[in-house]
Amino acid sequence: MQRFAHNSRRIFSLLLVLVLLLPCFAFAAEQPVRLNSLIKADTEQLEVRFLTTPTNAKSDATLVICHGKEELQVIVVDGGLGNGVCFLELANLRKALMESLGLGDEVKNKNYKLALTLFITHFHKDHVEELCVNILPSSLFTIDAIYMPPATALVTDGTYNNTKNGDIKYRPRILDLVKHHTPSTSVYELEYGQTLELALACGNAKIYAPLEDWGIGDKLKYIESVYYSGGNVLKRKDEVPNVVLNANSEWLHVSLGDYSVLFTGDIMKKKGDRSDEALDLMANAYKDEVISDIVKYPHHGIARNPAAPIVKNQLLKKDGIAVITTDGARAAAGTHLEMLGTSYVTTEDGSYTFIIDEHGITCHLVE
Ligand SMILES: [Zn+2]
Repeated sequence: MQRFAHNSRRIFSLLLVLVLLLPCFAFAAEQPVRLNSLIKADTEQLEVRFLTTPTNAKSDATLVICHGKEELQVIVVDGGLGNGVCFLELANLRKALMESLGLGDEVKNKNYKLALTLFITHFHKDHVEELCVNILPSSLFTIDAIYMPPATALVTDGTYNNTKNGDIKYRPRILDLVKHHTPSTSVYELEYGQTLELALACGNAKIYAPLEDWGIGDKLKYIESVYYSGGNVLKRKDEVPNVVLNANSEWLHVSLGDYSVLFTGDIMKKKGDRSDEALDLMANAYKDEVISDIVKYPHHGIARNPAAPIVKNQLLKKDGIAVITTDGARAAAGTHLEMLGTSYVTTEDGSYTFIIDEHGITCHLVE
């Protein structure tokens, strides 16, 4: 009898321990699973998806998916307008990857995270709104790192009124969202003139920060006189106006073997008789190393005619292809590229995917 009592006490203690440990087991089960680490490719491949831009919408979002032998890396180059296009593409990518891993039943389980790397060319609505409204707040993703250009004329000496600086509309908002939703994310805010090389899950990337700040001194005066004089004066709502952020776009060059892709953000070129505008200076400073097979045309393709020869002669390889991301009504670039005998595609027709591997580049349109 005594022995029985002793045993039952032991069983009771054991049960108690188990009950106390239960939350730990539950906690262990809730540890997030990084899907990227489960996906290993046999052959390295870069997949570049320029996402569709519906007619009359100026939006910019591209996924660069590196199918590496150790893991999969997903780089979001800008996210576009907050219209859900980029979010849906990423959610569908996560779903497809989970299905390929036999985890189709777990798609609704938010512990399975797709890790993303975010690259921001500049802080304009048509490039970053989707990050704010759909991607950063989503629990489907985790953000490894975020790369962004240096702040524009954010001075503390009273030279400018920062509340009238176009740069603060999205930059602080994104930094706040990162702090709130994904505090462990590494944030890389480059310096003017800085370049940064990165090894990707397959291939390499190099980031080119703007050379100088177009939001101060003579550079700001140039922007004011060319873009905001005469009838355009009312367009200048801020002391550091919109076009400054365009001119300060950060570039991204991604390569695998001999093939590469260049993202130029909304860098500006307006005057054919000048060679010191933002696009000229970047193209001249980084010459041979940025020449690519695929170039995201500056400023969606609405950059003025003088940009086309620079794209053709300084940014694209001989048989390269430019990608334009605005609707035909506003795209000036297409006609000019055609006249120069340079090929281009436009995301107005749908999403364009380029697959790059050791054999070359293939292109697919998803309407
Ligand atoms: Zn833009």
